[in-house]
Amino acid sequence: MRGPGPRSRELSRRIAAVEAPGVNTLPSTPGAVSLFWEEAEGSRVRDVDGTSYIDLTSGFGVAAVGHRHPRVVEAVREQAGRLLHGLGDVHGHPLRVELAERLVRLAPVASANTPQVFFSISGSEAVEIAIKTALAHTRRPGVLAFEPSYHGLTMGALAVTSRPEFRKPFEDHLHGHVHRLPFACDPGQVESTLQAGKIGAVVVEPIVGREGILVPPSGWLSEVAKSCQRNGTLLIADEVFTGFGRTGRWFAVEHEGVRPDILCCGKALGGGMPIAAVLARRELFRVWETRKEALHTATFVANPVACAAALATLSVIEEEDLPGRAATIGEWVGRRLASFGPSRGRGLVWGVEMETAEAARAWTGRALERGVLLLAGGPEGKVAQIVPPLTIPEELLETALDILRETVG
Ligand code: PLP
Repeated sequence: MRGPGPRSRELSRRIAAVEAPGVNTLPSTPGAVSLFWEEAEGSRVRDVDGTSYIDLTSGFGVAAVGHRHPRVVEAVREQAGRLLHGLGDVHGHPLRVELAERLVRLAPVASANTPQVFFSISGSEAVEIAIKTALAHTRRPGVLAFEPSYHGLTMGALAVTSRPEFRKPFEDHLHGHVHRLPFACDPGQVESTLQAGKIGAVVVEPIVGREGILVPPSGWLSEVAKSCQRNGTLLIADEVFTGFGRTGRWFAVEHEGVRPDILCCGKALGGGMPIAAVLARRELFRVWETRKEALHTATFVANPVACAAALATLSVIEEEDLPGRAATIGEWVGRRLASFGPSRGRGLVWGVEMETAEAARAWTGRALERGVLLLAGGPEGKVAQIVPPLTIPEELLETALDILRETVG
């Protein structure tokens, strides 16, 4: 029987005393399982008590190339021996240039010219930058977002994230011009909302990630994109979760042939190091031109070690054709999951909807005891999420799915 052992429990007790509650603390969340990770490699995680698990979370979708991919580790080691930290927006470093050049070549952004990149440290910050760019460029106050959606929890990103329990305590302080429509609603509703002319940007996850793994009907995203074009509204695709091969293409918008004006990415980009980015039509980024201090920046922006890790990660994704692998493996994963319950997904991001949050939680608990890491999410916590590294060996994935089949209840 696996699960938190004595060291994990001891560390849980200690962290509860010193870290804010509700983040990583077992005692403040009765019944929740807090496991402490010691080591991870590929698709396996080992906890502080020496127990090994198959990771079907990819650490929130980060470990697309697997944990501690040797190429990423080597790049990090090499860069750490040279330069750990730069001078943010004042002085540059060579890897930042290389990474920017690489990302703008990859970005499926609507542009006659090459797009440009704006680096950030987290996905939430990328969403902040995207929204700031759109609002400053269009000078329109409104943003249209969808329900459910998750765009992060910093104040700007929180304003567009859908879940009321996240927003409620801060409601009075959030950007007040957010309109919401159901995800995958009738495109006519998007059109009529945009026609009023007050909306600067539509923010959308091409496939909803942690809020329940929802794939819109074919053609929906392109209808939204067309509405944006007709109404002079900017389309922001939040690909923080879906980017870099997860759905079977480099970016999920490519399934629909959509080229957004702005695209946010993060998570998998750094191969485990914290880095995110916004890619946008270059004319939109003119709003950031200034002769004075940068209008948006951060101390750790484009950190050299994170840039080195990202460059190695992109090479691995490309050379191992991980988007192609996700597409191929995803097909049989989808077929297998169909017998577990109502399921949906694409590539290597799948959700199985349980009847209740308790059922989903119980399943993740049983899977953990059998050595599989699985998260439950969605607005009501009912959706078990299968998000393995894109490099997971097929036999290991089979083993994990066998365990899920036996534990689904
Ligand atoms: N956008 C999406 C679609 C996400 O899934 C997430 C995180 O799960 C974010 C934004 C926020 O990213 P971060 O947690 O890096 O701030």
